[in-house]
Order: sequence, then C-alpha cells, then structure tokens
Amino acid sequence: MAYQIPRGCQDVYGEQSYKWQQLEKTFRDFCYLYNYDEIRTPIFEHTNVFKRENDSSDMVNKEMYTFTLANSSTSLTLRPEGTAGVIRSFVENKMFANPDLPVKLYYMGPMHRHERPQKGRLRIFNQFGVECLGNKSPYTDVEAIVLGYSILKTIGLNDIKVCINTLGDDESRANYRQALKEHFAPYVEDLCGDCKRRYEQNPLRILDCKVDHDKECMKNAPSMKDYLNDASKEYFDTVLKLLDVLEIPYVVDDNLVRGLDYYTHTVFEIVSTSKDMGAQSTVLAGGRYDGLIPYFGGPEGMSGIGWALGIERIILALEAEGVTIAEKPALDAYVMCLDNDARTYAFEVLTQLRAYGYRSEMDMQQRGFKGQFKAVDRSKAKVAIIIGKNEFESKSVTIKNIVEKTQETMPVDSMIDALDALLNADCKGE
Ligand code: ATP
Ligand code: MG
Repeated sequence: MAYQIPRGCQDVYGEQSYKWQQLEKTFRDFCYLYNYDEIRTPIFEHTNVFKRENDSSDMVNKEMYTFTLANSSTSLTLRPEGTAGVIRSFVENKMFANPDLPVKLYYMGPMHRHERPQKGRLRIFNQFGVECLGNKSPYTDVEAIVLGYSILKTIGLNDIKVCINTLGDDESRANYRQALKEHFAPYVEDLCGDCKRRYEQNPLRILDCKVDHDKECMKNAPSMKDYLNDASKEYFDTVLKLLDVLEIPYVVDDNLVRGLDYYTHTVFEIVSTSKDMGAQSTVLAGGRYDGLIPYFGGPEGMSGIGWALGIERIILALEAEGVTIAEKPALDAYVMCLDNDARTYAFEVLTQLRAYGYRSEMDMQQRGFKGQFKAVDRSKAKVAIIIGKNEFESKSVTIKNIVEKTQETMPVDSMIDALDALLNADCKGE
C-alpha cells in the first residue's frame, strides 16, 4: 500500500528544510533584538479558546479541525492561529501582573485550517508571529510593524507593500457598523451566503469578502474613516506619523478590515507586489485587539497588538522575486576509509574532526575508492581525509586538498593544526 500525505499538507525536507531553518533563525534573531521572548503553547486548545461568542470569521465558522474523543465530552480544536492560545496563556499564567508591561512574545509553528488547498493556501501551514501584550500606545503598534517590515526586508523581499487601516475604538466601530448595515440593507439578497451571515454578525467583514469583492455596493460602501471619533483618529494619526518618521512606506487602505473579528484600531497587512506571486499575496497580517485579553479573563481595558506571517507564503514570495535563500554550505571534510580493518580508526578520526568543529562525514557503505571519491565530490567537501592500510598502521592521515589537488600524509596528532591552516579557521562549520 502506498501512503500519501493528506491533501493540503506539505513535507519539508532536504535543501528546503535548511532554507526554513535560515528563515527561522532570522525571525529569532530579530525577536532577540527587539526583546520578544518565545512562547510555546499547545497545538490544540479547548474549542472555546478559538470559537468565541458571535465570531463571524470564516476561520472560526468553517475552517476549524474540531474533535471530541470517545468517552469524553471535551471539545478540542487544532489551533488555526496563534494569538488566541497566547492570550489564553498570558491570562492563565497571570503574565499581565508583570510590572514591566508590555510582555512581548513570539511563537512559531503549524496552524490548521480546513481550506480549499491551492497555491499559497494549505491546510497545515506554519506561522511565525509576535504579540505585544498589556500596553496601548501607538509606539507599540509601530514597533510591531517595523519589526515585521524589517524581517521581510532582511530576508530579501523587496517588492512589498505595507497596507494599513484603523477600525477605531468600540464607539467608532459601532457607528460604522450601523452605517454599513444601512448601506448593505438593499443588497443583502445579492450577496453571497457568507455575507448574508456577516450582515447579521459583523457587517465589517463583508468588506473582506473575496466573492463579492467586485460588486458595485462594495465599491461605494461607506468608509471607516468617516466614522472615527476624535480619540481613534488621533491614535491612527500618531501611528502614521511615527511610520513617516521611521521612513516606513505604507498605503492607507480604507477597505482593510482583516479576517478575524477581534481587531480594533490599527490593522495592517504586508503584501507581496511581485507579479509572479499569484492570488495569495498577503504574507504578513495583524492588528490591535482591545477586547481579547478581558475576554479571556484578563484585566479590563488591557490591550495588545500582534501579527503573523505565513512561512510557506514567504517562501513563495521570495521565489516570485527570484531571491535565493542561503544554500546549505558544503562539508569541511569527508573521511574516506579504504581499508576495512581501519574503519574504527577512521570513525575515531571523524569524531575528532567534529569535536574540533569541522563539519564532516564518512563513508558508511564500504564503497571502493571510486565510489567514495564520487561521494566526496557530491558533498563538495573542501578536503578528503584518506585512511588506508598505511595510515591505519602508522596512526596517520592523508589530507587531500580537493581544490588545489594536493595531498599530504601526516601523524593524526597534526591533523587539526593542518586543517586549521588549510580551512581558514574563522569559516569552519559555516
Ligand atoms: P487569507 O485572507 O489569505 O485567508 P487570513 O486573513 O486568513 O488570510 P491570517 O489569519 O491573518 O490570514 O494569517 C496570517 C498569515 O498566515 C497570512 O498572511 C498568510 O501568510 C498565512 N496564512 C493564512 N492562511 C493560510 C493558509 N491556509 N495557507 C498558508 N498560509 C496561510
Ligand atoms: Mg483565511
């Protein structure tokens, strides 16, 4: 029987996994720089962590992998996003009591959504995300945006655009919601099934619809900016001014409402504008949430801001721009063992190489000279350490410099010094 990976899932291996690690390293390095700590939360949570009262998002209503085990009434859900679990943990572990708010956290790992698989849209995909919790200041909004923008630039994305909008505070949103209800009332029947539901639950989300996107009633819908109260307007203006000061280019997009219901004030997306990117061009998305921490039982009025990027989409965007992510470097040394009696000795030599930081490999197939030499070639190792009968008996090694095509036999005790001289010590293992 041939086993197959489930639809919408993906194995990452070989060269690709090295590229993933390089990206992940950049994410972690940036978080270290910005003083965000890692948080690891469970892959599943109680369903009500994600499925909150009156949530209108597709993700919660249609895309969740929810299960109940036999003999249990507990409903669990594979996490479709990172924020909810992080907030659950922030409140449960009373991180909000930290005297030095905000608490800044990042996470990385698989998310699960039952979506129709297509390019850039998987059923298990990986997100890297940050949350800055317990502070409400335009500075933290901008800090989060700058962090995301800098990461994307550093990994090599050039054709990117920051789209930003505000959803205002509760009062502004309530006014806007009313205006949208009045606007869409005559058109509800013409809208898709999801939008009919959204009309009742959260008419803002109609603006995010991919089906009705081009309809006339969408284009002339009222704009959030006309319903912002003074406090919300001022908050957003400060965010934009700070972005100007830091010279982060952005466009204000009145129709940006984001796919999740919990957002307030600043929402943003970073989109790949590369022409080869395809339909799924949003690589990073996030925003501020005012209600979420209190919803989970945290202090009233405590706010947070966060974003997540999709690693698979980042890789697509890099490919679309023709950026090569770092290739895995060649080995430093390959140990060729040409005599079966010398195998244990060769293995000791290999272990010594590694102890001194030289990335090395050894033939494990007992191949002949030719076969092993081809393996050296494929490994692109800079040197081959040849061990035959003579070397074994005299406790020596022959170091063959592959590039210069020279070789020298020496006592094994001199091997590391010779390699240090040969392979510029600073570069070893890179
Ligand atoms: P979309 O509008 O593309 O469905 P979303 O609003 O559902 O996105 P978020 O929940 O904000 O997306 O997730 C943040 C990021 O995670 C996206 O910008 C994208 O890079 C990635 N992402 C979301 N869903 C998927 C998926 N099904 N497959 C791959 N990546 C995804
Ligand atoms: Mg989605």
